[in-house]
Amino acid sequence: MKKGKRIAKSRMKVLVLNSGSSSVKYQLFNGNDLSWLVRGSITRIGKNDAECWQERKDGHEVKYTLHISDHEAAIDRILQSLLSKKSAILSDISELYAVGHRVVHGGEYFSQPTLISDDVIEKIEECSQLAPLHNPPQIAGIRACQKLIPGIPQVAVFDTAFHQTIPQYAFMYALPYEFYEKYRIRRYGFHGTSHYYVAKKAAELAEIDFNKSKIITCHLGNGSSMAAIHDGVCVDTSMGFTPLEGLVMGTRTGDIDASAVLFLMRQENLTAEEMDEMLNKKSGVLGLSSYSNDMQKVLQRADTGDKRSELAIDVFTYRVKKYIGAYAAALNGVDLLVFTAGIGENAPLVRSKICKDLDFIGLRLDHFVNQIAQFSEVKISRDDSAVQVWVVPTNEESVIASQTLDVIYEMQKD
Ligand code: ADP
Repeated sequence: MKKGKRIAKSRMKVLVLNSGSSSVKYQLFNGNDLSWLVRGSITRIGKNDAECWQERKDGHEVKYTLHISDHEAAIDRILQSLLSKKSAILSDISELYAVGHRVVHGGEYFSQPTLISDDVIEKIEECSQLAPLHNPPQIAGIRACQKLIPGIPQVAVFDTAFHQTIPQYAFMYALPYEFYEKYRIRRYGFHGTSHYYVAKKAAELAEIDFNKSKIITCHLGNGSSMAAIHDGVCVDTSMGFTPLEGLVMGTRTGDIDASAVLFLMRQENLTAEEMDEMLNKKSGVLGLSSYSNDMQKVLQRADTGDKRSELAIDVFTYRVKKYIGAYAAALNGVDLLVFTAGIGENAPLVRSKICKDLDFIGLRLDHFVNQIAQFSEVKISRDDSAVQVWVVPTNEESVIASQTLDVIYEMQKD
């Protein structure tokens, strides 16, 4: 795309791609109002019966299986489906103004969404050693677009970028310093796009100046993390070197004494890979309940009196509450507490357990509103609460689309 060339916003479409190890999720947005037009996914990439799903804004939905050999074939399929005469979503590829890619790890290189160039790809490749499961398929997605739609600008939006403002005393682990220098072992944090979006949105809704605020965000999904945000910048977050640290999650331990890990490895003769699997895939809510990683199911089971499910919920909610206390101290106060993602948006019992006995920071939940708040932006604290508590559904794809456009506009200014 030539610098300075401006296209009417109404004609711009932005494609957001989220490439996983065997999947590509996508969403197409209108550039003028960032409303979504189409969303879909291709899963089981590499198999003969890869599953393709697509939904249009008018409710029209298609599902079929197909042989999809790799990420390039998946993205080719997605582009074909957007361009097909039958669907009439894009009349011509020139309507596609930009592609925004979710990239999980930007290491210490990227603190902003960034226009993709060969140098940027090289740096994302370097960060692959920090996120070996995530970055490689995302690079494959970027390369596929370079090949299939050359000339359409691509932007990388990093999960880690929003956390790059965390001060060194909060991101360092107290290991010998040489390992930070040698391997860049430190806290990076993840879910940055979501924390940024819900914090900014909640400040807007609460009529608080984002740039003069103390906000704690709780992204509670299958993967869960929290962030402390001071005057619009992130000052701490609960995930660390990897997404394992911090809160209890669907299948991840969150914080654990490293000595317990070493003890288990010795006692059970576990390899590093086996231990990794236990910490990341067999622990958390699933490990504690011995039932499911799915909070909705565990809540239902706890309702029947199952003690282990009750315990899993108690451990989960207590950890979040403990982090609220820690971040209230880090921020020296709290104006806003925000809940988002699958559990944060939909589980009133989890929210009320977390907010119980937080009157030392002046937090008072409106139990009635909390009970009915679901799927929408709602204030769930009482008017006399010193801390406003909000439920704000996260929308990472629309933030990626918006940040992608911002990068392109900036580029055009130069
Ligand atoms: P991720 O994107 O990390 O896979 P989500 O943000 O989709 O996760 O959240 C998934 C979690 O949200 C699951 O544990 C699921 O049980 C929980 N969840 C979704 N809806 C509800 C609900 N109505 N009540 C309780 N938990 C829910």
